[in-house]
Amino acid sequence: MSDSDDLTPLDHTSNTTPEMNNFESLSPEEVNKATAAPKVEEPAKPFSMWGGIQSIVVAAFLLASLFTLFSPTNLFSGEMLERAIQAWRSNPDSGSVPDVLVTAEANTLPIGIVAGHWKNDSGAVCPDGLTEAEVNLKIATLVQQNLINEGYKVDLLEEFDERLSLYKGIALVSIHADTCEPIHDEASGFKVAAAVHSVNPEKASRLTLCMADRFQSATGLTYMPNSSSNDMTYYHAFDEIHSETTAVIIETGFLNLDRQILTEKPELIAEGISNGLLCFIRNEKVSLTEETQTP
Ligand SMILES: [Zn+2]
Repeated sequence: MSDSDDLTPLDHTSNTTPEMNNFESLSPEEVNKATAAPKVEEPAKPFSMWGGIQSIVVAAFLLASLFTLFSPTNLFSGEMLERAIQAWRSNPDSGSVPDVLVTAEANTLPIGIVAGHWKNDSGAVCPDGLTEAEVNLKIATLVQQNLINEGYKVDLLEEFDERLSLYKGIALVSIHADTCEPIHDEASGFKVAAAVHSVNPEKASRLTLCMADRFQSATGLTYMPNSSSNDMTYYHAFDEIHSETTAVIIETGFLNLDRQILTEKPELIAEGISNGLLCFIRNEKVSLTEETQTP
């Protein structure tokens, strides 16, 4: 604690003394008026009839002022006022809406980017030898570069990287791509999934929505919200990382039908992932809703 902090209570004490002395020169009614005000916030204490009436008058005056302030022509809508009041109720000391999920302290941590299958196996393989691992690594490297350019610390991680154990980061995303098998005509699009047993489902849900929303905007690929497999939701890295690290896995597209964008426009794929992470980190608005991503 600094010296100035120590002085603060003393200042309060010295300020009240002259005020108290001033009461001596006021009439009993004026003293009553002055002392009745705090009772508005302390209904538990017994109060006189006169004080009660005064409290009601004061409350009515405050309400009237509020409604004048937040008139329909005012910038503030009724909904905003309601939110502000709710925020104030839950935390009267701050006037802000408490929806900030990523704190300033968390922003000093790195962002983890797992290049799926890197240094472990090839992942999906196409008939001509194109591997999921090489596609993933190219995208992951571009995402890392984008986020470094935005001023973040970024760890590019292998599939079974030693650093994944209790990994502490603002967020972590594992980048994969879907099979190259020509399954059917609809084997196109991307999937995003968070851990099934996330300790902070609210944050996990927000990162999922941010990722899906921004990825869709950047790539134009179809979001496949209901098709996240067990392989995704029970992804091994989700159990290894620190429980406070919010993580998702993304299947960026199918190596067969989405091959062109995955291999020829990896910068668009990377932009979608980078923007998804930034949306989460910076608490940006998302147009996708919860309903569209229920597994
Ligand atoms: Zn994979």
